[in-house]
Amino acid sequence: MDHEEVSKEIAKVSNYLYEKGLVPGKSGNISCKFSENGVTKVAITPSGFSLKSVTPEEIVIVDMDGNKIKNDSNSDDKNIPVRKPSSEVFMHLNIYKNRNDVKSVVHTHSPIATGFAFAGVEIKRLEGFGPIENPVIPFVEYAAPGTMQLAENVANGLEKEDIVILKNHGVVACSKNLDEAALLTEFVEESAKIQFVTKLIGTN
Ligand SMILES: [Zn+2]
Repeated sequence: MDHEEVSKEIAKVSNYLYEKGLVPGKSGNISCKFSENGVTKVAITPSGFSLKSVTPEEIVIVDMDGNKIKNDSNSDDKNIPVRKPSSEVFMHLNIYKNRNDVKSVVHTHSPIATGFAFAGVEIKRLEGFGPIENPVIPFVEYAAPGTMQLAENVANGLEKEDIVILKNHGVVACSKNLDEAALLTEFVEESAKIQFVTKLIGTN
């Protein structure tokens, strides 16, 4: 895949997750790792923009150190507005550095799962996550958004997991492809919803 194809995929999934209510306002960020002309690159959503209407041209391409790569869709072309990579770019990069199998990372602030994150209540892992080894989705300790500490905490948390809940913040999922990572964030929201409804109704 070249950067144009990857950017198109990211824009499509960004718009979809917004429609689903998983990345309200300007929250959330999405990236994919790919190789182009023998160089490993990461395409990521821009900082400070809603994923509601992000376009492929607005997706930012960086190297594995987070430096913007010129002459891509985010080049010096005067017709294309300058975009900075998401403020969580180092969280994404740290995950890729830790997990060679991961090709995509999706971070959401979906309201119900995030409610659990603020309440400090663990979300139970339901059928559909694959083999249930850990009965709950693990928490990652709080660090301020956009910091290297958060990047480190999340990458450590995802060493043996594909989803984590960031305390007082949101959800991060990773996978070998973008669709799968996005589906995991949808699924964690659904799991939180089911757990919430079950608690409200009570059991017989
Ligand atoms: Zn966030």
